[in-house]
Amino acid sequence: MSRRLLIQGGHLVTMDPDLGDLPRADILVVDDRIAAIGPELPADDAEVVDAAGTVVIPGFVDTHRHTYQSLVRALLPSCTLGEFMGTIFNSVAPAYTPEFMRLGNHLGALDALDSGITTMVDWSPSETPEHADGAIEGLRSAGIRAMYAHGMPAGGQWWYRSELNHPADARRIRAEHFASDDSLLTMALALRQPGNVVDAVATHDWNLSRELGVRVSVHTAMRSGGATGSPIRELHRLGLLGPNTTFIHCTTTSDEEIAMIADSGGSVSIAPYVEMVMGHGLPRITAMLAHGVPPTLSVDTVTTSPGDMFTQLRTALALGRAEALPADPEGAFTPTLTHRDVLRLATIDGAAACGLDSRTGSLTPGKAADIVLVRADTIRTLPLRDPAGIVVSCADRADVDTVLVAGVPRKRAGRLVGVDLARLREQAATAHEAILASAGLGAA
Ligand SMILES: [Zn+2]
Repeated sequence: MSRRLLIQGGHLVTMDPDLGDLPRADILVVDDRIAAIGPELPADDAEVVDAAGTVVIPGFVDTHRHTYQSLVRALLPSCTLGEFMGTIFNSVAPAYTPEFMRLGNHLGALDALDSGITTMVDWSPSETPEHADGAIEGLRSAGIRAMYAHGMPAGGQWWYRSELNHPADARRIRAEHFASDDSLLTMALALRQPGNVVDAVATHDWNLSRELGVRVSVHTAMRSGGATGSPIRELHRLGLLGPNTTFIHCTTTSDEEIAMIADSGGSVSIAPYVEMVMGHGLPRITAMLAHGVPPTLSVDTVTTSPGDMFTQLRTALALGRAEALPADPEGAFTPTLTHRDVLRLATIDGAAACGLDSRTGSLTPGKAADIVLVRADTIRTLPLRDPAGIVVSCADRADVDTVLVAGVPRKRAGRLVGVDLARLREQAATAHEAILASAGLGAA
């Protein structure tokens, strides 16, 4: 028998261009999908969720996060990129056991769900096959929609003009964990850019992605050593650019290279908060939009950033508008980026960047029921006027009342469903101490 849920009387911001905003409308969810959207749908035998006083949006899409790092949350709140990479690569990542990968991903995925993120790309290193299995299990048990991006070990030999091909275990993982592309969890490869690897390895790795039929997620073009100045151009020269690749950061990417990404059908993920704090460089929001490449949003790491999308929305809006400041202090300020634009980056554009826009990213009949109810009647959000403005300018995760992923409630009435927080707190504390001790960083 099918399960029917009627989300009743919310203010819908569908992010579907054909539906737009619908004040006081209902969503009928049947099993894992949105069956109908409209005013005063008949409840019949459906379980009713009262959405009055809420803004109903599609779940956020976080297009890049090193989820396992939730066990070292706020370890580096004010670090540089060099300090971050030194600490993570040399100390933290090698201290992770497969069980810590599982626990870190589980905790990180719940953190994301709690804040209304229903889809994330987990950019996940794997010291061993068992580490990869742990990371996947952590995502699966949290119930989030995720693209697991399988990466390589953290050691320096993997990251400076490396001659090591992407681990062949990717083939096992594809066969063992991701036999279907229709599941809540899907697979990608977390690859390294030219410069981090020699040309032959880049060619091998992108060919592997095509052999496996999976997307690629790659950090490119930021202010860090080890890479060439123009990795996008290098990938172009090698004939490896294509629609299956998401380029992360791109803070030092030239206009010519952004045009190459656009021509290839590739996508972009920026992490505006982390990029400015760590000094990857300034996100190129305006240039990317001008080339038709939406700079989709990501948390990157909770060592330094909060795990929610509201922070990224506001950082992107502020920076994207500040980019329009003229050099002449008397010149007119005519920014074009709006709160609606950044909300699109965090929903439908993010889904498209992951090749998941036929499945999620908007409130559309036929798509998966990835739905978030944001309270518009709290002290931070009342009174309700511009619903998208409430979400982008006022709300935070405390206002996230209800989160559905594929029709399954993961948060209701402001609380995660089925999560033993006391037990999780204890497990995380033990793991945190063990990782810091093993990393030689000492206890907090
Ligand atoms: Zn990253």
